Amino acid sequence: MAVESSPARPWRPTRWVVWALPARVMTPVLVVELTALGLFALDLTRNSFSRADLLAAGMLGVLGVLHTEVAVGLERLRRQVADTPHGDLSSVWTFAGAVLLPPALTTGVVLVIFTHQWLRVWRSIGVPAYRHMFSTATVVLACHAAVAVLRYGGGGPLVQLDGPRELVTLVLCVLVYATVNTGLVAAAIALSAPQPRPSPARLIGHWDENMLEVATLCLGALVAMGIATNPWQVPLVMAPLLVLHRAVLVRQLEEVASTDSKTGLLTAAAWHAQAAKELRRSQRGHSCAAVLILDLDHFKSVNDDHGHLAGDQVLSAVAGALRGEVREHDLVGRFGGEEFVVLLPGMGLGGGGAAELHAIAERIRHRISTLAVVVATSRGSLTIAGLSASVGGASFPDHGMGLEHVLQVADAALYEAKRDGRNAVRIAEIADLPRQRSAGLR
Ligand code: GH3
Ligand code: MG
Ligand code: MG
Repeated sequence: MAVESSPARPWRPTRWVVWALPARVMTPVLVVELTALGLFALDLTRNSFSRADLLAAGMLGVLGVLHTEVAVGLERLRRQVADTPHGDLSSVWTFAGAVLLPPALTTGVVLVIFTHQWLRVWRSIGVPAYRHMFSTATVVLACHAAVAVLRYGGGGPLVQLDGPRELVTLVLCVLVYATVNTGLVAAAIALSAPQPRPSPARLIGHWDENMLEVATLCLGALVAMGIATNPWQVPLVMAPLLVLHRAVLVRQLEEVASTDSKTGLLTAAAWHAQAAKELRRSQRGHSCAAVLILDLDHFKSVNDDHGHLAGDQVLSAVAGALRGEVREHDLVGRFGGEEFVVLLPGMGLGGGGAAELHAIAERIRHRISTLAVVVATSRGSLTIAGLSASVGGASFPDHGMGLEHVLQVADAALYEAKRDGRNAVRIAEIADLPRQRSAGLR
């Protein structure tokens, strides 16, 4: 099923990468692929095709291949920058096939488009063949699920929408197709990802990516009806498809630009922008928020002792620990070198809020002090432990209304922790306020 890209005679079954997968991943992958294959074989024995069916399938296959060719640069870039599953825009053709053609022909269209995509896009960016085969199989299963809905709705091929019943059936087909496709891909990612499990956004993709998938499937339905009534209007769908492609690429590039590559956290600029937005929301809702700034102690000596690459792995482990100790909606960013920052919305006000913030900061400090980071060096693997961090905290509105002011107060608290011997937490006192005011911080 999967072909190793580099070794000699990669087509040999013994060299397939899929055998190297852990059983918890390999078994479901094989089950999905074999189920799709079994359904295709069954369809071939059952389906008979008219000339019109064959012409429609040929048209979908050709348009799908043309679409890949026109968008090949965009698609390569999109797949390189995206680390979340994303709607495959070729579903415009495969979904059209599902609602219009006998299932065996639909699977034929899927195979033509996906094989061509493999040769032109996936192979060149080093994606293992078994993963592409898995995606192909999920699309085949999604098509069959859509056909099942169509049959349950009492309809045959979708030629035109005659009334509300057909419209509801079509909407159900779209939802079921998207759910089966996304659900299987999400399950495969969840099974193959190391602990802790990826976030739901990483598993099922972002909201706008799922909306893109739904929009693509709706275009697919229009393509099916176009083919059934007047095939000459169908190529017009290519222009909106390419615009959709570009729109999603822009969003993915924005996401890459706002993510720190070493730690996966927000970059300083992205953190600032999102924190300022979150703060305005807190102000409108008359709620409180807090900021923690964290600086690793004597981090330079980690680099000096073990090298910068080991230092980078420590930074990544600290980022993971930090993310693990705060809530999903707290904003965690890398401020600079070995400095991190967290915005915690919805905190308590006054002394109670300060105590809560202190407890969170202590939890983070303690977690970092217990980290044991296994790093690979030129001298073999070694474990770096005994890390520590100093943490400073301040809150809105107790220490100021503006983000910059509260950051300055938190930074001053961090320096106090450093001065007091490091490996410590300092939360700015509310009584410090007059001093900060007179120092022009508010
Ligand atoms: P202190 O307890 O006073 O904070 O001491 P420190 O050594 O942590 O602070 P200092 O500011 O002297 O040094 C910070 C170090 O962080 C120096 C720099 O080499 C390292 N650093 C900054 N960015 C990176 C990075 O991206 N990767 C690695 N490996 N190290 C980095
Ligand atoms: Mg520093
Ligand atoms: Mg430091």
